[in-house]
Amino acid sequence: MDYQPLLEQIAADVAPLVGGGTPAEYIPALASVDPGQFGMAVADLDGNVYGVGDWRVPFSAQSITKVFALALALAEGGDSLWERVGREPSGNPFNSLVQLEYENGIPRNPFINAGALVVTDRLQTLTGDASSELLKFLQEESGNPELGFDAEVAASEHEHGDRNAALAHFMASYGNIDNPVPALLDHYFWQCSIEMSCADLARAARFLARHGLRTDGSRLLTRSEAKQVNAVMLTCGTYDAAGEFAYRVGLPGKSGVGGGIVAVVPGVCTLAVWSPGLDPHGNSVAGVAALDRFTTLTGLSVF
Ligand code: GLU
Repeated sequence: MDYQPLLEQIAADVAPLVGGGTPAEYIPALASVDPGQFGMAVADLDGNVYGVGDWRVPFSAQSITKVFALALALAEGGDSLWERVGREPSGNPFNSLVQLEYENGIPRNPFINAGALVVTDRLQTLTGDASSELLKFLQEESGNPELGFDAEVAASEHEHGDRNAALAHFMASYGNIDNPVPALLDHYFWQCSIEMSCADLARAARFLARHGLRTDGSRLLTRSEAKQVNAVMLTCGTYDAAGEFAYRVGLPGKSGVGGGIVAVVPGVCTLAVWSPGLDPHGNSVAGVAALDRFTTLTGLSVF
């Protein structure tokens, strides 16, 4: 299928929303991004990539990297990860501490910050260099060896990282963090700082649409694990608005505060969309609308 005309139509449909919402403000590097940008890409399973608008412009992937870190931790270390992190929607903001105390330091899911810290901790134990392994994987799957960390964003995350440090120390007090907290935080902040374009993201996520198969045909995840990651994206991937996202879009998706969202149509294609203005839950306003238009116009959703 030629997705190009569809993408052009979607871009025109959502144009009035681009610039709406508010870019993330917790670090200066994100607050200063031009909110008038919009890009969208579709990668099919034959290797074709279609795009519109700013689809080749790199942006801060932020929490979208949590999906790839989870996939790598499962691929390298298997199911025992689920003894340390749950898979239920949290209903709380992404950086919330409250649930950890009454659930013994076990975060609700791998996509809130507490859960992602546990995943990065696991990946660090398994590989010895979590953030570099993640970057290498993303470079390989996207076919873009230029992908890299944004040192300014990583430094800024560090400077404003008290909440993440608190989460990591609190979980360590329950024995749910294996590595020294400062080293873990370094890897987590580097992970958040990875810069990718919609084209890179759509390509890199294809293994989730290919039931676990990587670009080179080798297997990253079992069919069942790929289904599980997609399921957790659907239920937990868009902050405390995952219900609304499932209702509007009907696809597994993961958003980041940089304004990006990656979504998967299993067996068909992957989608990536980016526009920096966020709604109050932290999801891109124009991004969610564009994905909504995509599933409405094509009927391609998991429902
Ligand atoms: N770097 C952010 C944090 O850990 C990630 C935010 C996000 O994209 O959800 O606070």
